[in-house]
Amino acid sequence: MDEKLEKLWKIVKDSRNIVFFGGAGVSTESGIPDFRSVDGLYNQQWKYPPETILSHTFFMKKPEEFYRFYRAKMICTDAEPNAAHIKLAELEEEGKLTAIVTQNIDGLHQAAGSRRVYELHGSTLRNYCMKCHKFFGIEAVINSEGVPHCSCGGIIKPDVVLYEEGLDDSVVSGAIRSISSADTLIIGGTSLNVYPAAGLIRYFRGTNLVIINMSPTQMDSNADLLICDRIGKVFSSI
Ligand code: ZN
Repeated sequence: MDEKLEKLWKIVKDSRNIVFFGGAGVSTESGIPDFRSVDGLYNQQWKYPPETILSHTFFMKKPEEFYRFYRAKMICTDAEPNAAHIKLAELEEEGKLTAIVTQNIDGLHQAAGSRRVYELHGSTLRNYCMKCHKFFGIEAVINSEGVPHCSCGGIIKPDVVLYEEGLDDSVVSGAIRSISSADTLIIGGTSLNVYPAAGLIRYFRGTNLVIINMSPTQMDSNADLLICDRIGKVFSSI
C-alpha cells in the first residue's frame, strides 16, 4: 500500500471523532460538474456568468432565466454516490465519523446513508414557497416548466444559498460545534476558496488535519497528511 494511504488508514483507525469537510470535488466523481472549475461552466454559452445567475438579485429579477440555467446545470437527478460518499457513511455507521460538513447541494451523502450532514449551501432536493413557506421536493422543479409556483400563487425557490445570501445560522453553528470537537478533520475535494464556508475549518483544534485534493489549498502547510489525488480513489483504497 502507498505510504500516504497507509498513514491515512492509520489515522482513521486511531480516530474516534472524525469530521469530513467536503467540496465540489466529492461530487464531480459522481458526474456532477463543478460550476466554479476552470473548464466548468465558465466556458459555456450563457448570457451571464454563473455567479450572476445564481445570485439573489438575479433570482428575484429574472426567475425564468434563473430556472433555465438551474434546471440545465445545477440539477443532476441520475447521479449516484461514489466511493467517497459510501466510505464516509460506513465510518459514521462504525461510530468513527461524527459529521459531514459539505458545500455540495446534491444530497449524495444522505443518499449513501450518512445521517449527520451539515449542508452549508442548502440542497436542490428541498424547495419552498416564498409566500406560504410550504416545502416541496425536487419534483416540483423537475416536473414544471418556467418558474414553478405553489398552489397559493407564490414562487417556489430552491433551498440553496444563492450569492448575496447568508448561510443558515443553525447549520453553521452545528458545523462549528462538530469541527471544534473533532480529533481528526479530513478536508476533501475543495480548494478552500469559497467563503464563508472555508473559514469554518479554522475552528478545528484536533490532532490530525488531512487534506485530499487535486490542487493546492491555502491550508496545505498546516496539514499532517496531504494527498494530491481524487477523493473517491483515495477512499476506495483504504
Ligand atoms: Zn404557497
